[in-house]
Amino acid sequence: MFNFTPSILKNLASRPATRQYPFAKRELPEGVRGELYNDIHACIFCGMCSRKCPTLCISVDKKAGTWTCDPFMCVYCGICADNCPTHCLHFHTAHRPAATERQMISMQGDPKAKKKNDTD
Ligand code: SF4
Ligand code: SF4
Repeated sequence: MFNFTPSILKNLASRPATRQYPFAKRELPEGVRGELYNDIHACIFCGMCSRKCPTLCISVDKKAGTWTCDPFMCVYCGICADNCPTHCLHFHTAHRPAATERQMISMQGDPKAKKKNDTD
């Protein structure tokens, strides 16, 4: 008990080592990978992000023009963004807000518009 006394006194006198997230947020370092975002208008639905993702959390449906990511499976490795040929995938610098239920990131694009633009 006497061995712990200095540590107990030190901890009583110092600030807590943890934060009350999400109410207290720390400043994020440069280049932080926050929420994954797809600029869907530039997406060509090639599916490269989905094939390269190590956790298989991205689904792409070229016909329907949908791009979906399960952020609860994402490990924020950045491989999808590094391999996206149009660079439409990138990370916001802010973290996703805390959630009480599973929410997918779902985006709807228009692959036909892409084809039309390509033939213009
Ligand atoms: S790799 Fe990029 S362009 Fe291809 S489907 Fe994924 S987000 Fe779209
Ligand atoms: S950051 Fe990594 S784990 Fe997350 S969607 Fe991209 S490739 Fe998958």
